[in-house]
Amino acid sequence: MSKVFFTPADVEITDPTRWYQPDKSLVSRLERLIEESSILDNIDKGDIVAVKTHFGDRGTTKMLRSLFVRKVVEKIKEKKAKIYVTETTGLGLTRDRTTAIGRIEIAEENGFTSQTVGAPIIIADGLRGFDAIRVRQNARHLKEVHVARAIAETDFVVAVTHFKLHMRGGVGGSLKNIGVGCVTKTTKFDIHLPSPPEIDKEKCTECDRCVEICPFDAIENYSIDLDKCLKCLGCAEVCEERAIKLGPWLDGDDIAERIVEAAKAVIDTVGKGNFAFLNFAIDITPHCDCHPYSAPPQVSDIGVYASNDIVSIDTASLDAYKKESLTSKALIKEKFWSWTSPERLVEYAEELGLGSRRYELEEIP
Ligand code: SF4
Ligand code: SF4
Repeated sequence: MSKVFFTPADVEITDPTRWYQPDKSLVSRLERLIEESSILDNIDKGDIVAVKTHFGDRGTTKMLRSLFVRKVVEKIKEKKAKIYVTETTGLGLTRDRTTAIGRIEIAEENGFTSQTVGAPIIIADGLRGFDAIRVRQNARHLKEVHVARAIAETDFVVAVTHFKLHMRGGVGGSLKNIGVGCVTKTTKFDIHLPSPPEIDKEKCTECDRCVEICPFDAIENYSIDLDKCLKCLGCAEVCEERAIKLGPWLDGDDIAERIVEAAKAVIDTVGKGNFAFLNFAIDITPHCDCHPYSAPPQVSDIGVYASNDIVSIDTASLDAYKKESLTSKALIKEKFWSWTSPERLVEYAEELGLGSRRYELEEIP
């Protein structure tokens, strides 16, 4: 059983004519939540601390606001730690979000700059998204996980997560923020797809687009050398003939378990006691923040959760979401995308020893 702390999104306004009540702000209450939950207690003076969040894609409008990240950074600064705010690049090579340059440009467009968040922004998997340390593990799906190098070299990670639905993983909570958000393209590929890319010689017109874009010269004689391929998906993006064969995009239990196995590799690398988690269950959109638009939220805002247990915080957030009524504008009229398995995320994470689905909730008003 682990402790999960919670501050609700709803505030009781007893006197609406008093316009200046800053203590009612969710930012003020986030500060109290961090203080009273003691989730940052394991940060030591001089530690390098990563604040891992999601900056959203171009067009996303309901990602987290930068002022929440700034408040978290301010609280970590009180520990005299060295802080950076971080994200990783996306799968592929052609879209803006797939390099550190584009990732930072979009972050700035969405309001995340070193000035707004109060700390430098560093993209954890390097310029092109391949900078990793390789972690081998005896797991059901992922025998090797490419942990983003900056994360691997960090002393403590604070996951500042927008809790929302996800079309593959079910929900995007802390497990997904760590499992997908702290690994490089290669493991993102292995989470989403069951087998490496392969060229269909029947469809290939030998146009050489894939040969030119491949960063590792992995394509010779229109065949992919799997010893060189780092599964970035770049070749598939540029092939107009759809000659790059990919397995079916995964969903259900399969992707849920892969996300958890990647999260385990990240947590084992940094150290289980070196994480704090904040789930913002507000603007719970039907899509994740990689989506280029934001549909109306599925339910009313719930609040913010804090814990040092990744399984407990995601379970508490899931439980609260399931109890809420769908809004009239909810895009999907069920609680989750029907082909996803959000419960499997927390169940498998508990099986792998990442935390407990049993939690005690303490409300911080
Ligand atoms: S891009 Fe497609 S069609 Fe062109 S060489 Fe590569 S696999 Fe063949
Ligand atoms: S062959 Fe592999 S490394 Fe090269 S572009 Fe395709 S997926 Fe990327």
